[in-house]
Amino acid sequence: MIPDSVINEILARTDIVDLVSSYVSLDKKSAANLFGLCPFHDEDTPSFSVAPRKQIFYCFGCHKGGNAIKFIQEIEQLSFPEAVRFLGKRVDVDIPESEDPYLQKRQQERKRLLAIMLDAARFYYTNLVNDEGIKARSYLKNRGIEENIARRFGLGYAPATWDRLCQHLQNKGYAQEELLKSGLATRSKQDNLIDFFRNRIIFPIFDRQNNLIAFGGRALEDSGPKYLNTNETALYSKGRHLYGLNFAKSSKSDKIIIVEGYFDVVSLYLAGIDYAVATLGTALTSGQANLLKRQTDRVITCFDADRAGRNATLKAASLLEKVGVNVEVLLVPEDKDPDDYIRAYGPTRFRALLDTTMEPLAFELEMIRQDSLADDGSLQITNYQSRACTLLAREQNAILREIYATKVAEQIGTTTQAVLTEIARQQNVSKDKNSGRYRDRDNTPAERSKAKSNAECQTDEISLILLMSEYNDLLRELNFAIEANDFSEGYLREIANKLIEASQDNSFSTANLPSLVEEVSADDPDFLHKFMAASINSAELTSVSQRKEAIRKLFHRLRTRRLEREGQDLLTRARNTTDQALRAKYLTEYKEKQKEGIAWKQKIY
Ligand SMILES: [Zn+2]
Repeated sequence: MIPDSVINEILARTDIVDLVSSYVSLDKKSAANLFGLCPFHDEDTPSFSVAPRKQIFYCFGCHKGGNAIKFIQEIEQLSFPEAVRFLGKRVDVDIPESEDPYLQKRQQERKRLLAIMLDAARFYYTNLVNDEGIKARSYLKNRGIEENIARRFGLGYAPATWDRLCQHLQNKGYAQEELLKSGLATRSKQDNLIDFFRNRIIFPIFDRQNNLIAFGGRALEDSGPKYLNTNETALYSKGRHLYGLNFAKSSKSDKIIIVEGYFDVVSLYLAGIDYAVATLGTALTSGQANLLKRQTDRVITCFDADRAGRNATLKAASLLEKVGVNVEVLLVPEDKDPDDYIRAYGPTRFRALLDTTMEPLAFELEMIRQDSLADDGSLQITNYQSRACTLLAREQNAILREIYATKVAEQIGTTTQAVLTEIARQQNVSKDKNSGRYRDRDNTPAERSKAKSNAECQTDEISLILLMSEYNDLLRELNFAIEANDFSEGYLREIANKLIEASQDNSFSTANLPSLVEEVSADDPDFLHKFMAASINSAELTSVSQRKEAIRKLFHRLRTRRLEREGQDLLTRARNTTDQALRAKYLTEYKEKQKEGIAWKQKIY
């Protein structure tokens, strides 16, 4: 376990705005908070907020929220101790390795896995260069990949046998369990351990820190899938890595070009472009977009020209633009992929294509134009105009809208004004569609009023907890004592109890509130969301007297409700008992409670 004092020190030295800003572009939207597009879910308008004063983040869309540690856990996909370590490194707080046996075990396992990967890479490489690799070598040579290039990318060959790698690694002392965990071995139907990659050209996949974490394999024969990657392991997770990023990182170029396959990356390298990365068989994910954002502000997408490639282009462009990366689209002519094109026309012509990149909007418009061509190659004007205007109606930037409206007007032989009018009409149509009102479910008036008062009560209690958390040191200075029982039974009472305890020895830090709330309400995400939203929205109170006054007002309302609650409780007990003496006792207590309640309501501090 990492001591709380160390965690608090790390949180104290970490500025959440600074931290989040290295992943998300934030704008100041309200007086207290910053907003940006959520890195955890897909959205067009920012609902991800950061509260500098409270050092927390919260997304009103997907409800992810918490302190800096939580943010790092989510965005870097780390466990709690790993995230603490990650932040510790950032702010120069040392955490001795020996303190966490769980983490030590995980690190040990990780080291073993990394070692297996390296041993496997050596095995594959040896097989490529020895006699057995002759077919693989001639295949590579056919694709223009000579030995020096194969070595640079660490290419190898997985022999066409069932379990040669498994045997090799077991001879080196790795356990069967470890081979399975590395993803290099799999179980056959007869329950034997067999090699995952067989008769394939092997591409090692590295992470940003140059650790070999997985492999990709291209089949040499027409059996099984053409491309195969390591499945999810402790080292490798699909959609969180990019092939070639470790190489592209050291390029002098300020751009990165994304392609679909490993061979494209290698071909581009041969063509003198050393800044290509591949998505590893998926459409670009938001994890990969974040990875790219940390490397560059300019990305060129270069996917296949088929339908799937086009959709991949549009998705990638939208994800990248959301994280603030400038996107250009490179459309390779004749429906070729970059590798085919370079082999057909040579590197010089491919490099010339880099001057023909388009903005994503122009690309989308071009796709619509191509779709609107009749069999004889003529443009079907009505179809094109309607789809083009729908597309432009969605564009937020008025200047871009006008530029492209002019282009569309030229193509269909009308005026820019006519196109802009049509765009405006479509914008109004979609506005009307979105204005449908939310209707409350049809509850009875009594149910609604009860629900309303419960909600008010919860809102008050949450507000008081937020104040007790933010101004924890003030609690000892008040001329009244807030008790845990002033809160309704459940999470809120539990949280309040911890805050009251902490105020006695000054051991509380506001940034810890989200984890405290999460801990007690683990099985009720709705509560956590509500709490985080309230926390983000709570106003700042500048003077001590304002703070005390706000606490006092809420406390007064809570205590009033508590006395009512306790009175009702006594009344229910009196009704439910058959013991006359006990009933009389409850009723007496109930009357006292009522008196106390009335006196309380009139009490003014
Ligand atoms: Zn979100």
